[in-house]
Amino acid sequence: MLLLPLGSGTKELIRLPQYRNRMYRIIVILLLLIILFYMVRRAIRDWNKPEETQGLLAKDAMIQDPVCKVYITADSAITRTVEDRTYYFCSQDCANSFLQNHPS
Ligand SMILES: [Zn+2]
Repeated sequence: MLLLPLGSGTKELIRLPQYRNRMYRIIVILLLLIILFYMVRRAIRDWNKPEETQGLLAKDAMIQDPVCKVYITADSAITRTVEDRTYYFCSQDCANSFLQNHPS
């Protein structure tokens, strides 16, 4: 007579932590998904940034030297930034003479 309620009582005691474990697992998985979502979103944002700047100026695009009017490629050019604008020069001499005429 006493064994029956005791038996059902222990069954509930066993079932309760299992239920809690499942709840914790769901919360942990949800948290991991949220963290993953933010990481992926940030990664996509960082990944898009260099592409945008590359789109502005392709590496093999021809740019005119403002001093000697010679055309040069962006990756071989000497760059100088004056008042937030980037200028491209064929040589150090052209860059120096440009900076002398345009003191920042
Ligand atoms: Zn030049």
